[in-house]
Amino acid sequence: MIKVNDNFCQLPATYLFTEVARRVNKYKEEHPDAEIIKMGIGDVTRPICPAAVEALHKAVDEMADASTFHGYGPEQGYSFLAEKIAQFDYPSRGIQIDVDEIFISDGAKSDTGNIGDILSVANKVAVTDPVYPVYVDTNVMAGRAGVLDASGKWSNLIYLPCTAENGFVPALPESVPDVIYLCYPNNPTGTTLTRDQLKVWVDYALKNGSLILFDSAYEAFITDADVPHSIYEIEGARECAIEFRSFSKTAGFTGLRCAYTVIPKELTGTSSEGKRVKLNPLWLRRQCTKFNGASYIVQRAAEALYSDEGQKQVKETIAYYLRNAKALREGAANVGFSVFGGVNSPYVWVHTPNGLSSWQFFDALLDSCHINGTPGSGFGKSGEGYFRLTAFNTYENTLEAVHRLKNFK
Ligand SMILES: *Cc1c(COP(=O)(O)O)cnc(C)c1O
Repeated sequence: MIKVNDNFCQLPATYLFTEVARRVNKYKEEHPDAEIIKMGIGDVTRPICPAAVEALHKAVDEMADASTFHGYGPEQGYSFLAEKIAQFDYPSRGIQIDVDEIFISDGAKSDTGNIGDILSVANKVAVTDPVYPVYVDTNVMAGRAGVLDASGKWSNLIYLPCTAENGFVPALPESVPDVIYLCYPNNPTGTTLTRDQLKVWVDYALKNGSLILFDSAYEAFITDADVPHSIYEIEGARECAIEFRSFSKTAGFTGLRCAYTVIPKELTGTSSEGKRVKLNPLWLRRQCTKFNGASYIVQRAAEALYSDEGQKQVKETIAYYLRNAKALREGAANVGFSVFGGVNSPYVWVHTPNGLSSWQFFDALLDSCHINGTPGSGFGKSGEGYFRLTAFNTYENTLEAVHRLKNFK
C-alpha cells in the first residue's frame, strides 16, 4: 500500500495567482481592447548583465572540452564563488564570514524551505503576517504547523502582524518561538527594519535561545543608510541567525538559479538528549546527502558579478527597478493612496482606499485603470486591505500605470 505524507494533504490549494489569472482573463474576454499593465509581476524582467553572460559562454566552452570539463562539483559550492562572497558581500559592512560558513545553492526558496530538515518537528515557529508563503507551507509539510483553523491560521504557528498600525515592524510575541522567520526588505510589503529595530529581534533571540532565519533576498535594493544589509551587522547575530541570500533579485538569476546560505560556526541547537549541536555541520551533511551543487556554469556567472563591470551592471539594473518603484510610490501617493515600501524594495504596498477589501480593490483597479496587481490578503490575514504593486515592468509601462491611477474609481 502506498501511504502518502498526510502533512501535504493538509495544505490548502494555492489560490492566489490562479484566481488573479482567472479574473484577468475574464476581464480580457469582456473587454478585448483593454491593454492591461501587469504590476503583479513577482519576477525580474531585465536580462542577465553582460559580465555574467560572458562568463556563462566561457564556462559552456569549458564544458565542451575534456581538458576543462567539470562534472560534479562540491555540494556546498565552488570555492572560487564562496571566496568572492566572503570577500565582497560582508567585510565592507564590518562582518567577517568564513568560506566554510557559506553554502552555495540553487535558490533561497529551496534553502528557506529545506532548512527545516535540520530542525526538530517540535520547534515552535513564528512568521510575520503577511508572509512569503514558502515559510508557512514548508512547515506544514514538515508537520510543524498544527491544523488550519476556520480563520485560515495554523494552530501551531505564531503570527506576527505587520500593518500600518505598527509601521510594519512586528511586535515581540507573547509566547516564545524557537524559530523566527524574518524577511527584510520584505516581500510582500516592501518595508524594512532599521538596524535598531532588527537589534530588538537579535537581542530577543539571544535571550530566549531562539533561531532567526533571516531572508535578505532583496538586500541589493537597500538605499537607506540605517537599513542593515545583513543580520550579522547586529552584534550577537552569529550566535542566533542563519542568513539566506540570492542572486535572483540582485542580478536577475531567477531563471539561472543561484543563491547562498550563511550558517556561522558558533550557531548551535539542542538535541533531545540536551547536547549542544552545531548547525553548520548538520546543514553540510544535509546538502551533501540531498543536493549535488549548483551548476558550474551558473556559479561562474555568479562569480562574474563581483568583477568591476559586473558590480556596475548589477547596480544599473537595480537602479532601473528602483526608479520604477519611486515613480509608482509617488504616483500612487499623489492620487491619495496611502503607500508603503518601494524605497529599499521593488515592492509598493498600497493601503486600499475607502475600506475596500484586497479583492475589491483588485477588481476596481483592473476595471478603472486596467492595472493588474496582487491582493495583499493572499499573503495572510494581516494583508487584507492592502495591495502589492511591483516595479518589475518597464519604466514606460510604469509611467503609463501611474498616469492611469488618476482614473481610479
Ligand atoms: C524571490 C525571493 C527569494 C529568492 O528565491 P530564489 O529561490 O533564490 O529565486 C527568496 N525569498 C523571498 C522572500 C523572495 O521573494
